[in-house]
Amino acid sequence: MSASESTSTATAHQVLVLGAGYAGMAAAVQLAARAKRHESVQVTVVNAHERFTERMRLHMTATARRPAELSVPELLQGTGVRFLRGWVTAVDAEAKTVRIDDDRVLHYDTLVYGLGSVADTSAVPGAEEHAYTLSSVQDAELLADRLARLDTGTVVVAGSGLTGIESAAEIAERYPRLRVELLGRQEPGTAMNRRARAYLRAALDRLGVRVRTGVEIVKVLPDAVELAGGETIAADAVLWTSGTRVAPLAAAAGLAVDEHGRILTDAALRSVSHPDVYAVGDAAAVRQSYGVMHGTCQGGMPTGVHAALSIDRMLRGRQPKPFRFGYYHTPVSLGRGDAVVQFTRPDGSPRRICLTAGMAVRYKETVTASPWPTYGRMKKMPASGAFWPRGGRFTRVRGTK
Ligand SMILES: Cc1cc2nc3c(=O)[nH]c(=O)nc-3n(C[C@H](O)[C@H](O)[C@H](O)COP(=O)(O)OP(=O)(O)OC[C@H]3O[C@@H](n4cnc5c(N)ncnc54)[C@H](O)[C@@H]3O)c2cc1C
Repeated sequence: MSASESTSTATAHQVLVLGAGYAGMAAAVQLAARAKRHESVQVTVVNAHERFTERMRLHMTATARRPAELSVPELLQGTGVRFLRGWVTAVDAEAKTVRIDDDRVLHYDTLVYGLGSVADTSAVPGAEEHAYTLSSVQDAELLADRLARLDTGTVVVAGSGLTGIESAAEIAERYPRLRVELLGRQEPGTAMNRRARAYLRAALDRLGVRVRTGVEIVKVLPDAVELAGGETIAADAVLWTSGTRVAPLAAAAGLAVDEHGRILTDAALRSVSHPDVYAVGDAAAVRQSYGVMHGTCQGGMPTGVHAALSIDRMLRGRQPKPFRFGYYHTPVSLGRGDAVVQFTRPDGSPRRICLTAGMAVRYKETVTASPWPTYGRMKKMPASGAFWPRGGRFTRVRGTK
């Protein structure tokens, strides 16, 4: 029996994938392609929207570039995966159920938890009420609306990490009439080599972004941000990009989580407290030899694929293999006409090689556009999605190859 034929089979092994983001989609498509050979498996995906959110482009959405219409149910057609649009409100890890929109309850035998992360607006008072974020298309569109209505004024981008850099550059390029202040603790591109960092800084200067580092924002006000020490900086809009947090759903379900609410996983990406739950993407705390992986699409998609491979093995009565992943690049857009790409060692430290200008722009766009066609290819050739850098000696633990 195929996965699609088993939809109504009460005895089918129910795999429920929460979240159709980069990691959840990778898990669902990979598993569906492999589940065809199993007697009775039903894969169901639950997501807030039918449209796939290209989160890596949300800084572009915030500057009024329309997001692509990528339909998750359309992509899943022919795979046998059932798609349910809805908002997950609770997980009961003991009863193995998930509550959708408060009124529907779904049972699972195996859960893939891929609900992603959001900007951590709980970090300072006022951020939740007054700051914009790039956590969803709707959030980005709210900022786009605000920016389009500002004739002059100041936009404060809080956080000098990669999302802050890309956003500040995008806003400054699109709205040269606005003053863009990028505020953060660290120098932009701090994890890059000297050449890439210098290139990045020169690009921000060219775009007119005012960078202030070594500052701590302690409060967001309706029309300003307050820094440690008491200084305030007037702002007509504040974009909060500093840090991410994970929905409290997993912790509330009694799953073991870390201090950010991410599900603690074993080597095979199963919850350490509830092994019938796999955690993928930003919602998972995945430990490698070099440390806990930080949330990226680069690492998130492999976690989704690996969870699918592990479930497939488990359904065949085999043990899952340990997950291994090594970073290989940090591509950063600097507006639409510029970018810098830092190539990295598996632990994320910078190599000597980097790309800049046109080459980097093309590289970055190729990377950003690649997930969607990758899912399409995986439908027919699941193995095509199962290649990623394992990290070599950086992720090898004693006793593994
Ligand atoms: C502006 C920006 C630029 C970025 N650029 C890069 C980059 O260049 N390279 C890179 O590797 N990473 C980049 N990232 C990070 C990357 O986008 C994330 O790491 C990635 O999206 C994580 O994938 P995920 O599948 O875990 O979560 P997501 O992609 O966020 O997917 C989660 C899904 O779950 C859904 N969902 C959430 N809660 C619920 C609920 N309760 N009920 C139902 N559905 C729900 C969401 O709607 C979404 O569809 C960027 C992020 C931002 C914001």
